Amino acid sequence: MERKNTKLVKVGNVNIGGRSRISIQSMTNTDSLDKEATFSQVLRLHSAGCDIVRIAIPTIEAADTIAYIKERRPDVPIVADIHFDYKIALRSVECGVDKIRINPGNIGDESRVAAVARACSLNNIPIRIGVNGGSLEKHILAKYGAPTPEALYESALGHIRLLNKYNFDDIVISVKSSVVPNAIEACKYVSEHCNYPLHIGVTEAGSSRMGIIKNAEAIATLVHLGIGDTVRISLTEDPEAEVYAAKDILRSLGCDGHKGMDIVSCPTCGRTKIDLVSLVKEFEDAAKVEKLTDIPIKVALMGCVVNGPGEAREADVGIAGGRGEALLFKKGQIIHKIDENNIVAFLINYIKNEYGNNK
Ligand code: SF4
Repeated sequence: MERKNTKLVKVGNVNIGGRSRISIQSMTNTDSLDKEATFSQVLRLHSAGCDIVRIAIPTIEAADTIAYIKERRPDVPIVADIHFDYKIALRSVECGVDKIRINPGNIGDESRVAAVARACSLNNIPIRIGVNGGSLEKHILAKYGAPTPEALYESALGHIRLLNKYNFDDIVISVKSSVVPNAIEACKYVSEHCNYPLHIGVTEAGSSRMGIIKNAEAIATLVHLGIGDTVRISLTEDPEAEVYAAKDILRSLGCDGHKGMDIVSCPTCGRTKIDLVSLVKEFEDAAKVEKLTDIPIKVALMGCVVNGPGEAREADVGIAGGRGEALLFKKGQIIHKIDENNIVAFLINYIKNEYGNNK
C-alpha cells in the first residue's frame, strides 16, 4: 500500500502528513480546570504511547492548564479543543498550545477568524477542522438530506476556504461519522478532493467491545487505500484504552513505525492442556506494560504440544501447553520446558533477553 503524500503539518515535535508515521491521539477526560489531574493524565497517556494529547478547553480559565502542562513537559504536544469562542483559541495560543481544534465557520464574524489565523500563523500552530456527521450546518444538511460524504466535505471546505482567505494553510482535516461505511466514504471523498492531512477514526464508537471493531474496520480500510495521517480511537473507556487500541490496530496493519511484538494464540480445543485463556490475558497485560520489544517478532501461545509448534511454525518464539508444563519453541524447534506456574514470567524474560529494546 502506498500512502498518499499529504501536506506536512507539525504539531510540536510530531509530524502529521507527508507520509510521516501515523500518529496516535487521545483526549483527556479530567476536569480541564484541575491542572494537576489533567497533567497526570497527559503523562499517563503519553507514556502509554499517545503522540498528541487533546484537552477540552471550555473556558478562558481552563487554558491556563495548557501553560501548566507545557511549562513542565514542553515535549508533549497538546491540542486545545475549542468550540465557538475565538478568545479561548487566542488564550490557548498564548499558553503555548501546539494545535487548535476549532471550526472557523462557527466562531462568528470574519474578524475573529482572521485573529485566530494570525495568532496561529505567527506561532506556527496548526488548526484541525473537525467536521462531525452529527453537527453539520443546517443548510448543508438540508441540501443533502443526510450527512453524506459530500455534505461532510462541503462543510470542511467552507472552513478551509475561510482559513485560506486569511492566508492560513497549516490545516488538518477530520470528517467523522459514527457509522463505519459513512466514516470510510467521507475520508475517501476528502482525500480525493484535497491534500490536507487526515485525522481518521470512528466517532462515538461506543465501549471497547464494539468501538474497537468499528475503528479497526474503518482504519484498516482507509490505511489500505493509503489514507490517514493520524488516528484517534474514540471509546467510552479510560483514554489509555484508546491508545492501546490504536497501537494494536496500527501494529496489526504493519504500519511503519508501529512494528513490535505480534501475539498469536490458538482458539483452544479438546486437546488444550493449559489454562490458555488466562495465560494469554496475563501475557498481553504484562507485555503491554513492559513494552518488551520494538522488533517485529511473532509470539505464539498455543494450547497443546501435539499441534501447537506446528500450527505456529511461522512464529519466532512461542509456548505450547503440556501436562503441568509448557514447551518453549523457537522457529518451530522445542528448546526448553517451563513449569506451569512460571510460564508468563519465563517467556517475558526470554523475550527481553533475546529481543529486548535494551539488548
Ligand atoms: Fe487445539 Fe492444540 Fe490447535 Fe490449540 S494448538 S487449537 S490446543 S490442537
